[in-house]
Amino acid sequence: MPGNWWDDPREVMRPPRALIGGEWVSGGGLRLQVLNPSVGGVIAEIGAGTVADVDEAVAAARQTFESGAWAGMPAGARAQILWRAADLIDAAASELADLETLNNGMALVAAQRTVAQGAETFRYFAGWCTKIHGQTADVSGPAGTFHAYTRREPIGVAGLIIPWNVPFVFACNKLAVALAAGCSAVLKPAEETPLTALRLGEILLQAGVPPGAANIVTGVGEVVGAAMAAHPGIDKIAFTGSTEVGKKIIQASARTVKRLTLELGGKSPVIVFDDADLEAAVPGAARGIFTNSGQVCMAGSRVYVQRGLYDRAVEGMARAANRLKVGDGFDPASEMGPLISEKQLERVGGFIESGLLENAGLAAGGGRLPGSGFFMQPTVLTSPDPGAQVLREEIFGPVVTMIPFDDPEQVISAANDTDYGLAAAVWTRDIGLALRTARRLKAGTVWLNCQLVTDRMMPFGGYKQSGMGREGGLEGLDAYLETKSVFAAI
Ligand code: NAP
Ligand code: MG
Repeated sequence: MPGNWWDDPREVMRPPRALIGGEWVSGGGLRLQVLNPSVGGVIAEIGAGTVADVDEAVAAARQTFESGAWAGMPAGARAQILWRAADLIDAAASELADLETLNNGMALVAAQRTVAQGAETFRYFAGWCTKIHGQTADVSGPAGTFHAYTRREPIGVAGLIIPWNVPFVFACNKLAVALAAGCSAVLKPAEETPLTALRLGEILLQAGVPPGAANIVTGVGEVVGAAMAAHPGIDKIAFTGSTEVGKKIIQASARTVKRLTLELGGKSPVIVFDDADLEAAVPGAARGIFTNSGQVCMAGSRVYVQRGLYDRAVEGMARAANRLKVGDGFDPASEMGPLISEKQLERVGGFIESGLLENAGLAAGGGRLPGSGFFMQPTVLTSPDPGAQVLREEIFGPVVTMIPFDDPEQVISAANDTDYGLAAAVWTRDIGLALRTARRLKAGTVWLNCQLVTDRMMPFGGYKQSGMGREGGLEGLDAYLETKSVFAAI
């Protein structure tokens, strides 16, 4: 590591651009600037990763995989290393959280929570290392009698591509499971938020992950990410990000028939029935959209409220939006930070304009906040035209659209009337209605009288264009394993 680049975050940091085969790679021609979105200023300059870096990282990952240095290590020893990584994350927690807030803008308490989550994810998947095994079967027929068994084997080299909205959590989610399965990995963080992923690379080396088992290449998606998606040396891609880029990855990976897990966008509905506890539903729905400035794939961005509660629900959401303290993540009073970039600010502003053009009412917010940071007001839109863009497209900002409904049947069709299917929430005191509605919602996660709950023990992923495959739990681990059937004539 070229000095501890993270030691003085008041200076412009100069982190390395890649970790390849246990060696840090610095410099590079094209330099990318990394910003603090609360201020708009440059916090780091980093060389852009190259296609050649991807080739070298894949070669290092392949070499380590085939050598058995990681995949062939006794499972208990692999578990201990991943557990040690978790302890090292905890030991560096305050510095990691500072880096995350500086680079992503999220409130410091939120960053601290995400760092603790990252450590827990390593512990959870450390536990799986010693529990990977196949099944046996006694097979007999005209061809003879056989002792047959399955083996679960790591897929090989996994390419991990992650977004900027919760950078450390995604880096840990993807690396912990890939390594637990015995794969070697190449991770590409988002160009906006490379810092905590690089710091994690250092922690993994320190924990004893062998050189080449966990590689990192920073840089631009169209160069580094695209090279990974098409690379013949990568066996599997796990991607989190937009549906648009997810489709490009499907195409690029088709040539080599890569295994894919895709965690893509969402337009998650929230249904509030007339008998709901509004005291819980309104704060729940407000958290469901304004957490992390709405930059959450599972954000509840369409809130359908039964007519009897609609006016009070709109008032409540508007009050919640107006009360939220928006500011620099390092200010302890801040409850909501900035958006990630000027570009996202413009994009989200464009959606609000389109909503107003399509006859939405504006109950709160509506614009950016003054200053050099990328701050957007928490915004509540009401009753746009049916089929309006704000009801169809993922905004990825603190913008909620509220719609009244009369007929409980019709609201289920409206909730499912979307290309996405990541998550959905239902608020009602009627347990039967809640469970019946949960059955009919086409979403990978359904929350009943709660929102935004996830856990690494539970599979997470999307129906329809929200993705492919699941992360978390045993299904998440399965996505990094092949199954081999072995027949022995006896
Ligand atoms: P994105 O373009 O999908 O980027 C996600 C990751 O994919 C980044 O690491 C990106 O690299 C990389 N990438 C970009 N183009 C690629 C390509 N052709 N091949 C392989 N990898 C590629 O997301 P974004 O630009 O960060 O945000 C755009 C929109 O995506 C958001 O407004 C939001 O709607 C959605 N989004 C969804 C999630 C989610 O969790 N579901 C998360 C983030 C964003 P670069 O960073 O270098 O571009
Ligand atoms: Mg991008």
